[in-house]
Amino acid sequence: MTTAPSRPEIVPFVAAWSGEAPQRRRVIYGARGGIAFADETPEDRDQHGVLWNGRAHRRGTGRPEYGDVHPGRQRVAMEHRLCQVCGSAADHDARGTLWLIEDHRGDWRKWPEGLLTTHPPLCLPCAGKAVRMCPHLIGGSLAVRVRESEVCAVYGRVWSSSAFGYPVRTANKEVVTYGTAAARWVLAGQLVRSLHGCTVVDLERELAP
Ligand SMILES: [Zn+2]
Repeated sequence: MTTAPSRPEIVPFVAAWSGEAPQRRRVIYGARGGIAFADETPEDRDQHGVLWNGRAHRRGTGRPEYGDVHPGRQRVAMEHRLCQVCGSAADHDARGTLWLIEDHRGDWRKWPEGLLTTHPPLCLPCAGKAVRMCPHLIGGSLAVRVRESEVCAVYGRVWSSSAFGYPVRTANKEVVTYGTAAARWVLAGQLVRSLHGCTVVDLERELAP
């Protein structure tokens, strides 16, 4: 007899499920340069004209794929600053929205001011659960209040032109800023925000009633 591996109780809102098959679409050259889908529809691009990688929406079907971010839900969460764990509104107070970010305080002098992140913010109850149930999630992370943040880029696979008459995928997944030439060549998988007006806070104190 085998026992099913115990699964963590929380499946993050942005995690993909095995029942949500990635779309396999043929990529061609776009009429305005860069890449396009052969069977593209207006919903395949965001308001900046960037092409998005599609995936079925069947949250809860099959097994959670913790390491795999669902492009559609990550985009909604990041765009509307929803909690990455439960999908409800993230926590805001006078110092800003609550984010948990990896501690890289040595990276630059005013870190994390100007940091680019693909991780959506959190609500207080989920931040509390993360602390209690998934300490590995927040080990090495810092709680930060962010007064202003801007949707400024996408993270995704960059494609390039080729000698074969069709575009080819490169090995690179990159953060590509909106409005740049590269934005026509990326197949976006996640939305990126830049963080400004940051205050590092004590998460335990934030959680105190
Ligand atoms: Zn939450």
